Amino acid sequence: MSRFRLQSTPAQERVLLEHCGHARFVWNLAVEQHAHWRTGRRAAPGFVAQCRQLTEARAANAWLAAGSVTVQQQALKDFTQAMANFVRRTHRRPAWRRRGRGEGFRIVAVKPGDVRRISRKVGEVKVPKVGWVRFRWSRAVADGVKSYRVTRDGARRWHIAFNVLPTPIPPPGAGAVVGVDRGVVVSAALSTGELLSAPTLRGTEKARLLRLQRKLARAQRGSNRRGKVKTAIARLRARETDRRKDWVEKISTRLAREFDVIAFEDLKISKMTRSARGTLDVPGRGVRQKAGLNRGILANGWGLLVTRLEHKAPGRVVKVDPRFTSQRCSACGVVDREARESQAAFRCRSCGFAANADVNAALNIRFAAGHAVAARGGPPLGEPMNREPQRDLLLVR
Ligand SMILES: [Zn+2]
Repeated sequence: MSRFRLQSTPAQERVLLEHCGHARFVWNLAVEQHAHWRTGRRAAPGFVAQCRQLTEARAANAWLAAGSVTVQQQALKDFTQAMANFVRRTHRRPAWRRRGRGEGFRIVAVKPGDVRRISRKVGEVKVPKVGWVRFRWSRAVADGVKSYRVTRDGARRWHIAFNVLPTPIPPPGAGAVVGVDRGVVVSAALSTGELLSAPTLRGTEKARLLRLQRKLARAQRGSNRRGKVKTAIARLRARETDRRKDWVEKISTRLAREFDVIAFEDLKISKMTRSARGTLDVPGRGVRQKAGLNRGILANGWGLLVTRLEHKAPGRVVKVDPRFTSQRCSACGVVDREARESQAAFRCRSCGFAANADVNAALNIRFAAGHAVAARGGPPLGEPMNREPQRDLLLVR
């Protein structure tokens, strides 16, 4: 996904804001429906039922019918996805959306001619009910745009992100398997021993953010100054998000290129199984502070990394049972609840193997994936593997 700055005219901006308003309205209706249904008896309406209701609502309300049906339907689709994420426990329950906060809408079924370059620095995109809107051609737009999302950030700048399914990267073919562990202290650890950290704000930017936050605390509610400070904070945060997204793109491309099989933990299985190591919900000692820094990558970046890899290495992503990955010794296979010297260090009391705790976990993920692949006797098909290493029958107390 690549983001470009939209350069809409004031007249276009009015229609864009209307689209945002409609998307928000429909989204909030869905939130309300599900909140109401939660306590109720029958299942809440799904996407198809909601689309039918939307058609009825459009027939009854001229102002809604005047808007784009794509914008409104996609808001429902986004909501459906958000609910799925909530059920999978990777995200919070979809919440009510307020005006001016994280506004946006999605357009699908984009035709090949709907995005074009008109000069060296300027591109144009066709937006329903708006027409051709210019954007800054800051880098190449990939071919085959299927959908795009228009957003307005806290600083009131408009962006467009084109969604292109990346062309699959061919596997290297040597049978290399890598385990990737979602770290608490680092962003990700590879079974090769490499520790990867998602970029955060730089030192000077962090200091500036801290200053701004102090300023915000002092600023009077509703004042001009407060608005300006908020905008500056939103800008810094957006910069951080951009950097992390770029990082995810780079890492996913690299892993798809260097390894035939990329193994992750299956996050659908409860995170609570990792209690020895601490999770965001139930942190181990000393996790909380670091968790704060890493929250972004854990909440969004991690899911994005897996999703992008599934695009770039289809059929080559394996998900393994996360049980014991943090307590098992990757060298001798003994599962020892006390083998953690600290948050970052693993030392096996049976064989003396010592390693970074996240790398040890990554090695276990790689091991479980290797088992799963071998058991099938062929190339991985990409379905989730819920097999656990068989040597893990021995538990040390
Ligand atoms: Zn050991």
